[in-house]
Amino acid sequence: MIHLDGETNVKDLRTGADAARGLGKEIGKFCVMSMEIPWKVTREKIGGSPEAVIMIETMEESWLDIMCDKLPDCDSVVGVGGGMAIDAAKYVSWKKGIRLISVPTILSVDAFTTPAAGIRRNHEVAYVGHASPDPLVIDFGIIRSAPPELNIAGIGDLLSMHTASFDWNYANSKGKSEYPFSEKAIGKAVDILEILYGLLPEIKNTTDKGLMAIVEGYIKLNTICLPAGHFRVEEGSEHYLFYELEERLKRPFVHGYIVGLGIYLLSQLQGNRFDFIRQVMKDVALPYDPKIMDIRREDLISSLLNLRSFVECRPKLWYTVINDSNITREWAEAAVEDLKF
Ligand SMILES: [Zn+2]
Repeated sequence: MIHLDGETNVKDLRTGADAARGLGKEIGKFCVMSMEIPWKVTREKIGGSPEAVIMIETMEESWLDIMCDKLPDCDSVVGVGGGMAIDAAKYVSWKKGIRLISVPTILSVDAFTTPAAGIRRNHEVAYVGHASPDPLVIDFGIIRSAPPELNIAGIGDLLSMHTASFDWNYANSKGKSEYPFSEKAIGKAVDILEILYGLLPEIKNTTDKGLMAIVEGYIKLNTICLPAGHFRVEEGSEHYLFYELEERLKRPFVHGYIVGLGIYLLSQLQGNRFDFIRQVMKDVALPYDPKIMDIRREDLISSLLNLRSFVECRPKLWYTVINDSNITREWAEAAVEDLKF
């Protein structure tokens, strides 16, 4: 069991094969933020009678606000599902000032351990509010009912430390780091990665140990990022490719897959142990090929060619290798050559 100290956002952690059973009977009046499939596989186990069950239609702030206004009086909000459901529940918990309970049904993103809700403002990513799960419920039975590759996707936001930490180092070397640079934070990120590298078969097979490695990886990541007040070790150029693609194609992706694709391409741009990190992603069976995300070769090439001007138009994005890059069509075509379309 992992020790929860003051530096993590998770107030209480409940784990086990049936950790969510009967939850609905012990949290007072509650509402649920979910989606059809996750709610179907959990409602009986969670039990109780929710005041309202909201199926997430979009993460646009305007929709979330309308929905918040309509909610009946509740003591708690339970987020049941993947990143969107958990983020929507965080948003409601923050807006209404009520207790948050997070029941991730897949581990595909780190939303269940981070305080801010990732929403969309006019299709652009925005992180707002602050909410801590009390408790975070890791029910192995529920989580393993999801397709294994969606849980494996959870490692995407951890492996992104490989490229993001590189970017922070890089920005610092150019005198462009937006935050005080911390060698110690980078060291801690490397420690988390090393532990994961030793557990790739467990994660690939989604054993209890493998699933907990992802959850603990996220919680440890927060002990680096929350006190620092930013996610520089975990978010960098690999995420910026995802933002570009999301805006270009106007549709969501499985976060870990698209971040995996970002790691694949940006580690090449960085000259940052590409062969090694590609092998890690293969060993753990993280899907990252454009084919699985329905991304066409031409769209990906266009995205890469546009990447520098995309980040330059968004001064809020941190300084990364992209800012000094000169991505040509030749480079982009060579970089995507081994990917499946
Ligand atoms: Zn991410």
